Amino acid sequence: MEDCIFCKIIEGKLPSKTRFENEDLIAFEDLNPVAPVHLLIVPKRHFSNLYEMTSSHEGLSLLSKLHQALPEIVRVCGLESQGFRLINNCGEDAGQTVMHVHYHLIGGLPLGPRII
Ligand code: 5GP
Ligand code: ZN
Repeated sequence: MEDCIFCKIIEGKLPSKTRFENEDLIAFEDLNPVAPVHLLIVPKRHFSNLYEMTSSHEGLSLLSKLHQALPEIVRVCGLESQGFRLINNCGEDAGQTVMHVHYHLIGGLPLGPRII
């Protein structure tokens, strides 16, 4: 999609520190990390947000593939024993700023029990 930062990263038109990639998704370091590990896990197909993605069979199937890749991405980051938090911001009230669906994979320090 034109004017989408993440589509441009996926197409190689913008640089990224990519840590994992397969035919369905890419995982790269967040530009402004909030923790020692902060990756963005991004499906290559453009959906605006998680609501839109989970509203179609194709999106649900892709989401399943994304979760199938999660253990390997977690191992690449060395988070398999210490744990991690997976966050999706969906829409305005959640503060989503890039309108291409993505998960934040955050870890590398104790995050505590609070969600917000
Ligand atoms: P959101 O607020 O939509 O859940 O998260 C968007 C994330 O994308 C933010 O954490 C922000 O730092 C990150 N981000 C925005 N632009 C870029 C970029 O050009 N490259 C990378 N690697 N991360 C970006
Ligand atoms: Zn996009």
